[in-house]
Amino acid sequence: MLHRERVIPPEYIYPVDPWRLVEKEFYAAAIPTAESIFAVSNGYLGMRGNFEEDEPCHESGVYINGFHETWPIVYGESAHGFAKVGQTMIGVPDAKVIRLYVDDEPFYLPTAELKSFERALDMKRGCLTRELLWETPAGKLVRIRSKRMVSFTHRHLAVMHYEVTILNAEAPVVIASHAVNRKDEQTGDVDPRKARGFKERALVPDYFKDEGERLFLGFRTQNSGMSLGLGVDHQVETECAYDVASKHGQEDGQVVYSIAAKPGKPFSLTKFAAYHTSRRSRAGELCERAGRILARVKKIGHKPLFADQEAYMVDFWRRSDVRIETAQGVAQKSTEELQQAIRFNLFHLGQATGRAEGAGIPAKGLTGRTYEGHYFWDTEIYMLPFLLYTAPRIARNLLEFRYSMLDAARRRAREVNQKGALFPWRTISGEEASAYYAAGTAQYHINADIAYAVKKYVDVTGDRRFLWEKGAEILVETARLWDDLGFYSTAKGGKFCLNAVTGPDEYNAVVDNNAYTNLMARENLRYAAETVRRMRDEAPDWYAVLVDRTGLDHFEPAAWERAVEMMYIPRDEERGILLQDDDFLNKEPWDFAGTPLEDYPLLLNYHPLVIYRHQVIKQADVVLAQFLLNDLFTLEEKTRNFEFYDPLTTGDSSLSTGIQSIMALETGDLEKGVEYGRYAMLMDLADVGGNVSDGCHIASMGACWMVLAYGLAGMRDRNGMISFHPVRLHGMEKLSFPLRIRGCELFVEIDGCTVVYTLRSGEELTIRHEEQVVRLTAQEPAMELPLTGHESCGLAD
Ligand code: BGC
Repeated sequence: MLHRERVIPPEYIYPVDPWRLVEKEFYAAAIPTAESIFAVSNGYLGMRGNFEEDEPCHESGVYINGFHETWPIVYGESAHGFAKVGQTMIGVPDAKVIRLYVDDEPFYLPTAELKSFERALDMKRGCLTRELLWETPAGKLVRIRSKRMVSFTHRHLAVMHYEVTILNAEAPVVIASHAVNRKDEQTGDVDPRKARGFKERALVPDYFKDEGERLFLGFRTQNSGMSLGLGVDHQVETECAYDVASKHGQEDGQVVYSIAAKPGKPFSLTKFAAYHTSRRSRAGELCERAGRILARVKKIGHKPLFADQEAYMVDFWRRSDVRIETAQGVAQKSTEELQQAIRFNLFHLGQATGRAEGAGIPAKGLTGRTYEGHYFWDTEIYMLPFLLYTAPRIARNLLEFRYSMLDAARRRAREVNQKGALFPWRTISGEEASAYYAAGTAQYHINADIAYAVKKYVDVTGDRRFLWEKGAEILVETARLWDDLGFYSTAKGGKFCLNAVTGPDEYNAVVDNNAYTNLMARENLRYAAETVRRMRDEAPDWYAVLVDRTGLDHFEPAAWERAVEMMYIPRDEERGILLQDDDFLNKEPWDFAGTPLEDYPLLLNYHPLVIYRHQVIKQADVVLAQFLLNDLFTLEEKTRNFEFYDPLTTGDSSLSTGIQSIMALETGDLEKGVEYGRYAMLMDLADVGGNVSDGCHIASMGACWMVLAYGLAGMRDRNGMISFHPVRLHGMEKLSFPLRIRGCELFVEIDGCTVVYTLRSGEELTIRHEEQVVRLTAQEPAMELPLTGHESCGLAD
């Protein structure tokens, strides 16, 4: 059940376009949400979709993944092992601001007489564009065209192109290009998900160089020891006469162009901004690096840079596009709407992850500061599947990044009195940053989620070297944690129990034997034992390295296997369901009928203890386990569990809906599956969570891809065997998408009654279609097979 409303934006303002997100009018009410959904980013650098003029705005933002400030967490009542240092991604100086004055009249959207307006997130070209016609009070017609991109090919670079033409008159025009260091304000907001502000300034000026049209600003953080260098440069193309002046200070700068504009003659300004951050280098050195980038890209010029961006996107879409095609009888518009929503989600996923090398993926990507820019399990469970199948190199980078946190995770395990390693529930630097242990540190399942992702990565890519070199070490240390955390309980017939943990469902905290945790920990232990045994036989040199790095003792795998065998999985035999945890059924039922819609999300309206003592679920938990470990359960079991838990699930976390959709589709509740799927697709476009203004929900975007691949196409990939059980799409909608599997490229096309599998590259691939084994080869690359599954209404109906 979902306790949510969708707010569909008015179509005359947001007309449907399958490749662009278009805004046809200046629409003040949508500013907060538009800033998130029009954000541009490459995973390293991100800019919210603020207007060029900066105002009006809800929250101006430029962010760099991993660039954060630290602060001491102060507890009213502290206890041993509590996280001590908070981490908050901070806004970096904003170089996207460009202000315009015509006849000394400032261009200000809310009061400007606009003859036309169009802003678009161009998902084909990877940029944000705006074109408008402004009639000044003196009757001058001013055409303003602008484009903004954060480059995928030049990781540290943003390019802004701003062109002004007075169409019908001469006029003095002033364009002021700014770089502004905003101080992160204290918001006073009570929403615990939002980022904190700093009373003291977080960024301290550390370097400054004024070269007129080129400016360098360097900063360091007060506490976290990070430095930042920003270089901004400009390039003008025009036939109009102009003067340029600049005024720069230690923290802010502006370059001002005073133009004698002639009718019909454009003045075009390209602004390049290069950002560099580091934990080791000083701000001055980072500014020098920024200077080298600026020199290079200025020579290239804006047109080839935007063309490179488009080329990157062509490749992105070739790897990732999921197409829905029009069916007879299904209105074209609804198909296009869905296509737009799909691309919007995939585009933002691509933006959040594209160039995130050496970092994780914040829950909101770089579209907002909510959740403090922290990395969660969202990456491994929700974003990784899309990346594995479309950009395995990025998936590997993310797992390598986790590996780089292993030492911190070992230390964390010691802090909480355990062996092995415990990955932080939320973090930037690798240290635990969750100040609320009940919904933070207690989510030990993150260990198993990471181990699960390692296995999936190895199964789908065949990259055994990663497993030998790094993955195995993660597996050993996470398995050790489980072995140490659990115990053989006499009260449970000697079974291996994991008590005082929190599962994915944060509305039931610090519980005993959370089914998700126990099932996933069992998988973690099993895979760890299997891997070290295989390594000993198949890769003895790597095994020796592993033993050296971890001090692995030969009796350990046997101990893990015993825990696997004896793992306690809570069940309710009478209902034939898994129990979410030992006590779940003892709790008082939640009064859903008596809870008004405005009370959701419950976490903002009820004390945690009220929530904890009721049978109410924030997000898919048992249902998620049955999706992730789908081969361990029969269809009947999955159906019973889904039917029991779904009505209790509020969907108060955006991570829930996509998973509920997949499991509804698998268990044959097609109507619900499609309905939930729509919610997931529209999570941000229709502001389902009511908080898209704080940033886009990147995990939910990953879940959208999962709804298409695992839900509608019925893909399953346990242990590397890829199988499909597609839902028959009513009205002959066609769904098609590419997948990379062990170096091969597979293209899947599903329509109302058949599926065509095509091996687009690679020598050979064996998959399963329904109950049939299908072998595709370079010689016989395509196969068309009939569909026998249930029929659903199409997603676009
Ligand atoms: C969810 C977590 C998630 C976090 C960040 C929370 O609301 O309950 O599962 O990791 O948001 O997306």
